[in-house]
Amino acid sequence: MRTPVVAANWKMNKDLSEAKSLVSALLADYKKANTEVYIAPPFVFLNEAQQHIKDSGIQLAAQNMNAAASGAHTGEISSSMLKSVGASTVILGHSERRDIYGETDAQINEKVKTALAADMQVIFCFGEQLEERKASTHFEVVKSQLASGLAGVDAEAYASIILAYEPVWAIGTGETASPEQAQEMHAFIREYLRTEVSAKVADQTRILYGGSVKPANAADLFSRPDIDGGLIGGASLQADDFLAIVNAAS
Ligand code: PEP
Repeated sequence: MRTPVVAANWKMNKDLSEAKSLVSALLADYKKANTEVYIAPPFVFLNEAQQHIKDSGIQLAAQNMNAAASGAHTGEISSSMLKSVGASTVILGHSERRDIYGETDAQINEKVKTALAADMQVIFCFGEQLEERKASTHFEVVKSQLASGLAGVDAEAYASIILAYEPVWAIGTGETASPEQAQEMHAFIREYLRTEVSAKVADQTRILYGGSVKPANAADLFSRPDIDGGLIGGASLQADDFLAIVNAAS
């Protein structure tokens, strides 16, 4: 039995006072249940957010990280910095990092290895573009992103990896993959893990869906056998919407 996960990716939204209000609103109504819940605020709010959520059961995640341990990387953030403020989970490979900032599978793979070596948990994102879905190459694309992004990761290390399938055409567009389309891909990913890693890893790895998840569609998506929760962008910026999605996973 896999424990469901719902993670909030705030992206580059909120100022400090808005971030505090959102955390307060979450804490006011959050009831701990059988779902792991993460919030990933922008770097500058991680420390403050952790002070508020630390005894609540909600956990802290970062949205990105540098592959290097320290040194001359102006503007970048390392694994040890994240851990020192209470963020032991990091989102890597998000499509906005790939598309806007040109992160390659190889660079993402370096980050994954750095995070795992630092005993961090990784939420590894991947998913096809609209043209790839239209050309019916989406399974191939996903397989290649998994093979490259997670190259060199051994079976034991999968205990620290949560996968997040996010079809790029569904991110922030209001267009959600249908529960059938999402389940079909999640089953494919689980089968990939079974063949390429191990049956145990296939059975135990949580695979999240991301892409315009809302309170109205969350329960249907999360009821599918291979969908273990969601990575939530837009709807995580409103406490009531996010908590409704969390409840749909429990
Ligand atoms: C995301 O950015 O990971 C995401 C899923 O965004 P949204 O929920 O807004 O589509």
